[in-house]
Formats: sequence, C-alpha cells, structure tokens
Amino acid sequence: MTSAITHWVNGATSNGSSGQWADVTNPATGQVSGRVALASTEDADRVIAAARDAAPGWAATSLARRTQVIFAFRELLNARREELAALITAEHGKVHSDAIGEISRGQEVVEFACGISHLLKGGHSREASTGVDVHSTRRPVGVVGIISPFNFPAMVPMWFFPVAIAAGNTIVLKPSEKDPSASLWLAELWKEAGLPDGVFNVLQGDKTAVDALLHSPDVDAISFVGSTPIAEYVYAQAAERGKRVQALGGAKNHMVVLPDADLDLAADSAVNAGYGSAGERCMAVSVVVAVEPVGDDLVARIAERTRTVRVGDGRQGSEVEPDMGPLISHAHRDRVASFVESGTAAGATLVVDGREVQAEGPEADGGFWLGPTLFDHVCAEMDLYTEEIFGPVLSVVRVSTYAEAVALVNANPYGNGTAVFTNDGGAARRFEDDVEVGMIGVNVPIPVPASYYSFGGWKRSLFGDTHAYGPEGVHFFTRGKVVTSRWVDPSARPQGGLELGFPRHD
Ligand code: NAD
Repeated sequence: MTSAITHWVNGATSNGSSGQWADVTNPATGQVSGRVALASTEDADRVIAAARDAAPGWAATSLARRTQVIFAFRELLNARREELAALITAEHGKVHSDAIGEISRGQEVVEFACGISHLLKGGHSREASTGVDVHSTRRPVGVVGIISPFNFPAMVPMWFFPVAIAAGNTIVLKPSEKDPSASLWLAELWKEAGLPDGVFNVLQGDKTAVDALLHSPDVDAISFVGSTPIAEYVYAQAAERGKRVQALGGAKNHMVVLPDADLDLAADSAVNAGYGSAGERCMAVSVVVAVEPVGDDLVARIAERTRTVRVGDGRQGSEVEPDMGPLISHAHRDRVASFVESGTAAGATLVVDGREVQAEGPEADGGFWLGPTLFDHVCAEMDLYTEEIFGPVLSVVRVSTYAEAVALVNANPYGNGTAVFTNDGGAARRFEDDVEVGMIGVNVPIPVPASYYSFGGWKRSLFGDTHAYGPEGVHFFTRGKVVTSRWVDPSARPQGGLELGFPRHD
C-alpha cells in the first residue's frame, strides 16, 4: 500500500490536476512507500492564489491572536514530535534520534517566533521637530514561497515559516519531492493549532512548481535552501522579478585541528559531524585540516572511531539504534561511492572503505548504503576536495602551519561553516577574525546558531544578504514603514502660506 502525498490548499488536501506523480522511496529498504503529486503551473497558481487571498486577513489579525496560534502549534509539535520523526526516518533514512534532533532545532525557531510582539516593536520619537512625531513599524511582505531540500524535511521549513507566519505573512511551502510527507503533517498541525485556512499551504512538485513560484507576481518573497547551482538560479530569477530573496546553497565545511588541540575531542567531533545523518548535512564536516605534527595521531584516532560506526535502518524499534542510516537515493549513493574510486585513483590514501558496509535491518538488502569512509593525504586539487560530496566521506588534508590552514579555508568557494579545535584562546580568537565563513565553531564541530541568532553562510553558500531565522529572519519577512506626523493645535495654528523649500527640522 503506497500513500498519496498531495498538495495542501486552503486547509485541505488536493491532488491537483496535473495527473503527474513521482515515487517516494524508503532509502533503508529501497521500497516505494508513497507517490507525491507533481504540480503543473495551473496547480501552483491555485495554491498561490489561496495564499494571496488569505494574506490581508492574516496581516490584519492582532499580534495577540497570532502569538496564540504559534504557541498552540509549539505545544502540539512538542507533544507529537514522535509521529513526525517516524515520517522523517521513513522517507529520509536518518536514524530516529537524529530526526528528533532535527525537530528540536526547528521547534526552537517556533519558540523564538512566540515572541513576535516584542520582535516587531518599532521606534517612536516624540517632537522630532517642533510639533512633529516620528514612529516606525514593520509590516508583513505578503506571500512567502519556501523551497526546501531533502536533507531536513522539517527543520529547514521551520527555519522560515514560524517567523514568517508570526510576522503576518502567508506561506506556500514547496518541499523536496524526495521526502514530502513531513510538510503535510506540519500543515495538518497548523490547522489543529487554529491557523486560518490559506495561511499555510503546501505545493508538491519539482522544477515546474519552483518556477511557478519564481514567476508568479503574487509571490512577494522567496526563501530557498538547496544546492548552490539551484540557489544561484533561484536568486537570479526571483531578484529579476523584484522579489525579496534569500537562497542558501551548498557547503564544504573545514574543521581545523591545531597542534595543541585535545585530539580525542577532535576525533570524536570529526566522526560525529562527518558521518552523522550519513554526511547529508549542510553543516557536516567534510574536510579535517590537520596542522602538523598532529596528522598521524589524529588520523589514527579518527580511523579507530570510524570503524565502530554502526550503519542500518534507523526506524524506531530496533534493539540498538544504529548510528547512521542510508543515503537518500540509489543514484546519490552511487555518486558518493564514485568519489571513493576517484579519490583512490587521484592518490589519496583510503584509510576506511565504506563500500563494504553490512547494514543492519530486516529489509536492508535493497537499501542505499555506504558506510563511513575516511581518506588521508587529500590535496586541494582532488575532486574529493573540490566537490560537495554530501555523503559519509571524510577527507583529511595535512598542512604545515596555521596560516596554510586559514588560506585553504578562505580559498574555498563555499563559506557555510567551519570549526577550529585548539586549547589556545588567542589562536581561536584570531581564527574567528581570519576566516571568511558565516558560522564558526570553537571546539564545536556543527556550529548551527541558536534560534535568536541567524543562520547563514558566506560566499557561494548564500545568495542574497539576509540569513535565516533570528533577527535577520524577522527583517526578511517584514518591510519597514516610517510615519512622520503633525497634529496641529487649533489654538496655535501657524499662519501658514506657501513654502516650497525642502522640509527642515527645527
Ligand atoms: P536541490 O538543490 O537538488 O533541491 C532543493 C530544492 O530545489 C528542492 O525543493 C528541489 O525540488 C528544487 N529543485 C531541484 N532542482 C531544481 C531545478 N533545476 N530548478 C528549480 N528547482 C529545483 O538540493 P537537495 O539535493 O534537495 O539538498 C541538498 C543540498 O542542499 C546540498 O547542496 C546542501 O548543502 C544544501 N543545503 C544547504 C543548506 C544551507 O543552509 N546552506 C541547508 C540544507 C541543505
């Protein structure tokens, strides 16, 4: 029995009229578990129209009422997160505890959005000039299109929609067609929380759906997360049509280990951040930069831990949860495995080969498995280093000095996250200044900012100038208005007369 994963329009499911569907597969078994609707342009226009129609009413809803709905959503999410985690694991493959972790980080943004009345407070200046007051407000931008990747089917949409909805916008979410069920579950939760129909809509589909969002004059802002080529395309298309756009792209995150670092902590961190979620995280560590003389010792410790990683079907119920699940698709598994061949051919040292992995799970035979793979002596020219692999392949690059490590990080076209491992506070502080990267960890391998800061990379990891959630999220989903007002006291009405000079403050 496969389920139909439909659009969500005006508070109800809709098959759309395209007649096009795509298979959704459980990557731990290789079995098709559902069919997702693929929108035509007409389907997309209907979903966008629902969001457009709901926009004025939601923007006019009081802050108190909007906050109550967000708070109710938070309570429901907290109570029913296990259901969502099961959906994520069944379509994405990440193990249950990792799915719960993803939901928790999304929930933090929901909690941040509960404070929207404080976040939208404007300024007021009395008597800015004689008898003149000035105040500022922030108003919703209108209809927001959110286009999300496969690797965080719940958290990435939750980077955006809690703040956007709290700020008075309406939403069309276009999830990844690879794991679309979480979006529908979230839509039903919004309805239960009391969100009016039409405020949160889901448009299922592929490039046709994305292009419809980019081209529609009824969409005011686009929040995109995905690979760099598509992020660049989305940014250009949306900006050309005058939309507000933030497009977060791919990554190649370096973890620099200085000679004085705690090598056990560094090795644990490299393994956790390199192989967690099968390396399919935009903040995954994919390059360990070992500043000599630590290379041999560090690689030995990472290899020892890598060999203990258990790979398998991460659905809840297994006796001992595996550490790492499968890759998202057969094609992606084969692409990632091809780097093991090309890396070896290019002269890197293959320390742990994940191709021989034995995955755990009753139906694991058909799954898309690749075990954790470790390469040493990787050079900046190898495709192991130049490509975003997005899988469980960790490369160690050895350098002689701190300066070489920083130069390597800065020469990389991506600038999403990086980390330094050291016990020298001065070195860490200098690293913070020296690297051209948006999110930096000091002895923290996956430095995803807390919800009241903002998430975003530099260089080819983000197109646009606004990061996700936190204060920058509030800014992105609102537009400023400044009102200058004068209420003339009738008893002291000035003589008036024409004055064509530019208004001055006095
Ligand atoms: P993707 O770029 O293939 O897809 C992202 C979204 O774009 C999906 O909704 C997809 O349907 C749509 N899309 C795909 N091809 C398209 C096209 N030709 N035209 C228009 N739309 C298209 O990305 P993915 O494989 O789903 O996700 C993995 C990528 O996302 C990695 O590169 C990863 O680094 C990146 N990512 C980045 C961040 C970040 O914060 N910077 C976070 C998560 C994932």
